[in-house]
Amino acid sequence: MRTRFAPTPSGYLHQGNLANALLNSWLAEQSQGEMILRIDADDELRTQHEYTEYIFKCLRFFGLSFITSHPDPQIRHAYLKSQLTRIPDELLFACECSRSSLIDHPCTCREQGLIWRPGVNVLRLHLDENLTSDIDGSTYKLNDEFGDVILWRRDDVPAYHWANVIDDRDLHITHIVRGSDLHASSALHVHIAHLIGAKNLATANYRHHSLILDTDGNKLSKSQQSHATPTALDATFMSDVHSAAVRLAGELNINVP
Ligand SMILES: [Zn+2]
Repeated sequence: MRTRFAPTPSGYLHQGNLANALLNSWLAEQSQGEMILRIDADDELRTQHEYTEYIFKCLRFFGLSFITSHPDPQIRHAYLKSQLTRIPDELLFACECSRSSLIDHPCTCREQGLIWRPGVNVLRLHLDENLTSDIDGSTYKLNDEFGDVILWRRDDVPAYHWANVIDDRDLHITHIVRGSDLHASSALHVHIAHLIGAKNLATANYRHHSLILDTDGNKLSKSQQSHATPTALDATFMSDVHSAAVRLAGELNINVP
């Protein structure tokens, strides 16, 4: 039994991220499992060393136990690319449309059979219009949510969805607790997991909790100005995060230790 906490170090962790870490840790604890800390640093331009250090500081401050996954960035890039062969060829296509051109014209790149050139065009996964995926009590029409989803970005970086699925497969993750903003993404991840035969992930236990909002009712975001400085790790912060996590644990049937 394995959960994971997978923050992107593109800003300082906020209360919502840490509440999520607590939930994953508590769920692991209740089943004598373990929590993996996976730092998603594929997008090196947005990643800063201070953010990564703060993640470790926070988890230690909250006394959470975890196992860190430390992939070598160079090997990882080539490896994630090599794993694309797991997807049936006919479902992958290169696309040269820009975001603005897609507003005026639908993409016809799949029909054109363009050659994928990493660093020049993107690689998309075709999602049939009628394809649905069930997750945590909801059914999503994947094409309505994602179109033909990008798996490899124009700047030759693996897209979040692809890296996430391969990581969760390889780390043998069995339970995933995340915010409700990722509900549709989970449905997509289950679909991709089925495509590549990642059984642990296709049948993983997914739970989604409501999001913690700031005092103005806005979603907390790591890249917001308010999180440009790290929150001091003190008793107030600890108690705020803890009570938020306790409330969410109630939604998800997770025992509070
Ligand atoms: Zn296109």
